[in-house]
Amino acid sequence: MLGELKLVQPATVAEAAEALADHGERAKIYAGGAELLLLLRHGLLQSEVLVDVKKIEGLHGVNMENGALHIGACVTHHALANSALVRVHAPSLAYAESRVANVRVRNQGTLGGNLAFNDPHSDPGTVLLIHNASVTLGNERGERHIALSDFFVDMYATALGPGELLLEVKIPALPNGMKTAYLRLHRYQRPTLGVAAAARSNDGDLDEVRLAVGCVGPKPERLSELETKLRGAKLSDARQIIAAHKIYLRDLLRPVDDLLGSADYKLYMTGIMLADALEQAALGNSAIH
Ligand SMILES: Cc1cc2nc3c(=O)[nH]c(=O)nc-3n(C[C@H](O)[C@H](O)[C@H](O)COP(=O)(O)OP(=O)(O)OC[C@H]3O[C@@H](n4cnc5c(N)ncnc54)[C@H](O)[C@@H]3O)c2cc1C
Repeated sequence: MLGELKLVQPATVAEAAEALADHGERAKIYAGGAELLLLLRHGLLQSEVLVDVKKIEGLHGVNMENGALHIGACVTHHALANSALVRVHAPSLAYAESRVANVRVRNQGTLGGNLAFNDPHSDPGTVLLIHNASVTLGNERGERHIALSDFFVDMYATALGPGELLLEVKIPALPNGMKTAYLRLHRYQRPTLGVAAAARSNDGDLDEVRLAVGCVGPKPERLSELETKLRGAKLSDARQIIAAHKIYLRDLLRPVDDLLGSADYKLYMTGIMLADALEQAALGNSAIH
């Protein structure tokens, strides 16, 4: 049951920040409401004031600035999946967005809400990590920019401070010749596993590699140590190198047994799908690279 709630609809970030500062703990930021309304309805979260950020025009943009793609926090999954700019500059993100949940959630849910909630079983964060994305956060005192990898702190925990808004995601251009791929495993709507790869190969040698894994651990992770081992290796050896890093993957990702599968199964599938995604990215033959 939802109790009585006051709805505040600011037209600017400054007004939203002011409302959040005024109401403190009693206020919650409300974007698509796909998660928030469920939490309130089930009594898992209490609030008296919803600060609806969807009326803030500046949070709906998808623009290129100085070679980087800027995405406002209130852009929906559906809009991202269908954006011509996203499809050209971050096609694996467009693909991941097209796989989120179902048409209702994709129309309602926003990228900002997804990242701010930081549910481990999410798609966009994993892809954004291989793009070295960063986020802009703001409150009534001003703005700050941090790497997305620092924004994800733990399961359902982010670097957002009290009363702070996620305003924008910035995706820098990939190095020339680098392609990406995102692969996803799911039994239900939310993904069991998501892997993202970006790679550039030259005559069968991998000269640039980025890898990220989401869903099997508390938060999406870049695999920096494995990336270093793969850089300079032959693409044909990559599957074997990844398989040899099972303990590294287990320690970094900390998979658990749950309804989606055993920890061992998730780890096994992580290795297989990382190799598949890397191959697709390196060969540039992913349907969605
Ligand atoms: C049935 C179902 C299936 C799903 N399946 C998937 C899936 O397959 N893949 C996937 O990635 N996700 C999945 N999701 C999650 C979905 O993508 C998110 O629920 C959605 O994106 C959240 O966005 P929202 O705008 O609705 O956020 P809200 O529900 O409005 O907010 C979520 C949280 O983020 C905070 N918040 C929202 N916007 C901001 C902001 N700009 N700044 C700071 N804090 C903010 C809110 O205060 C709240 O705590 C699923 C959700 C449901 C309900």
